[in-house]
Amino acid sequence: MICLLGGTFDPVHVGHLHAARSVCDALRLTAIRLLLSARPGHRGAPGASVSQRWDMLKLACADDDRLVPDDLEVRRARRVGRPSYTVETLLEIRAAAPEAVVAWVVGSDAYREITTWFRWREVLTLANLVVLQRPGAPMALPEELEALTRERQVDCDFRAPAGAVRVLDLPMLDVSATAVRGALAESGRNPAMARRAADLLPPAVYTYINQYHLYGVVSDV
Ligand code: ATP
Repeated sequence: MICLLGGTFDPVHVGHLHAARSVCDALRLTAIRLLLSARPGHRGAPGASVSQRWDMLKLACADDDRLVPDDLEVRRARRVGRPSYTVETLLEIRAAAPEAVVAWVVGSDAYREITTWFRWREVLTLANLVVLQRPGAPMALPEELEALTRERQVDCDFRAPAGAVRVLDLPMLDVSATAVRGALAESGRNPAMARRAADLLPPAVYTYINQYHLYGVVSDV
């Protein structure tokens, strides 16, 4: 099975890594690809460039063979000169592996928004979806998506290459990149926030952020 967790990873945090490892355990996978989105990161605040987000993703995955950083989407965005869409990424993956079972992992916050994705119905013809119940993002779905979820939901391993939805009720960490950026921006003035940021990030990513003064970090810790 080809399993992908796509994200802006601005920055990658312990919630992402826990989610990826939990999916590997639940689906008995040897690997999950963490696919960096070429979309710009958080706007209007100090952030990280695509190449810095990529560096951090590689650092975060370095200690666990199951976590495979993937820059396929970023490379295509550079080729075509614009950010690319999930459906285009999946078309590329599908072209390379026409028969493979593909699973695209999303948190419940992202799943709720999926009907706003470009050509979202096509996404389900190219991949199965794994939905993780994210703390603070209950599975209240728009009507159309609720109906589709009822229709497509499975509780066992995916059998078809695409088209099914599996909601995994696994404990997730209540961490978001928004909260991480907030803690980092305060960390220079407030040591408690520096400790909080350190708790929410893989150690090598925390060190990288401090080294390059990302997200408004003003002092080396
Ligand atoms: P932001 O706070 O900037 O919106 P984020 O923490 O949601 O960022 P993303 O890179 O946007 O991070 O997330 C990528 C994917 O990982 C999304 O599908 C999201 O729902 C999921 N995800 C992020 N954090 C968690 C978490 N703590 N538990 C489970 N899934 C998560």
